[in-house]
Amino acid sequence: MEIHPQHIRTDSLKNLYQPFGVAVDVLRLDLLHPVVSGNKWFKLKDYVEEAKGLNKKTILTFGGAYSNHIIATAAACKAEGFASIGIIRGEEPPILSHTLKAALTYGMQLHFVSRSDYAQKRIPPALTEREDDIYIIEKGGFGLKGRIGAESILQYCESLLYTHIIASVGTGTTLAGLITSAADKAKVTGISALKNNHSLEAAVNSLLPSTLQNLFSINHNFHFGGYAKYTPELLEFMNSWYQKTGIPSDFVYTAKLFFAVDNLVKANYFESGSKLLVIHSGGLQGNNSLPPGTLIF
Ligand SMILES: *Cc1c(COP(=O)(O)O)cnc(C)c1O
Repeated sequence: MEIHPQHIRTDSLKNLYQPFGVAVDVLRLDLLHPVVSGNKWFKLKDYVEEAKGLNKKTILTFGGAYSNHIIATAAACKAEGFASIGIIRGEEPPILSHTLKAALTYGMQLHFVSRSDYAQKRIPPALTEREDDIYIIEKGGFGLKGRIGAESILQYCESLLYTHIIASVGTGTTLAGLITSAADKAKVTGISALKNNHSLEAAVNSLLPSTLQNLFSINHNFHFGGYAKYTPELLEFMNSWYQKTGIPSDFVYTAKLFFAVDNLVKANYFESGSKLLVIHSGGLQGNNSLPPGTLIF
């Protein structure tokens, strides 16, 4: 699959943050592919390679009704010649979300499971007899291969220029890949999209070699009420940030990331002279679940 990430250093970003003595660049992974946008392709690619090597024909994974991971897996499987199965959390709704409809168009077979079955990662009985043929990817692509895939994100920019690399955190897999690929050259900070999930640090550490463990930080102050929750202030920020920078964001992950960066820079959290690389991890399709007209992009 061909991807085209773009590294963006714009005058608008420069003008916005120069008064605080800080440079902010955004690595636009949202532009790399119209569907498999953002960090998801990076996290998936090594799993897909392994599935090929094992001669599996089907890839199965887990997600919610608005999951970027589900739609990315569906599209990647279609592009790479795999059948795909999505185990979806919760009852089948009368009207499918935009995300699930799109996953269906990529040929993904959807199985709705109860929240407790989902939590236990139980494979529906109808599928167990085919288990030999099925390659399973964890929810959100969490795991070592996901981290290794995410290590190639920084190849798309001059990462050595930066003092700080900042990214949104869901499972922490992407952050782990950024930490190993940045090694000790930049300080890596995650902005959690979850509320008070203080097991994230341990999850990230579990994907890191011992020499790199705890050499990162996760900020838990910008969740806006919790995972996929939002406030009028966040939506307003998304529109004004787009107006100022031309960069669209999604309300689940990247809006909270950019809001955090904007706030921290303005609070002089970063030393003067700091050079920030902010990873736009994509996910814009999630905005389809907002009421029409909410966003100006
Ligand atoms: C999935 C996702 C994340 C979180 O990535 P993790 O590797 O799970 O931490 C961040 N941003 C966007 C847009 C995502 O879709």
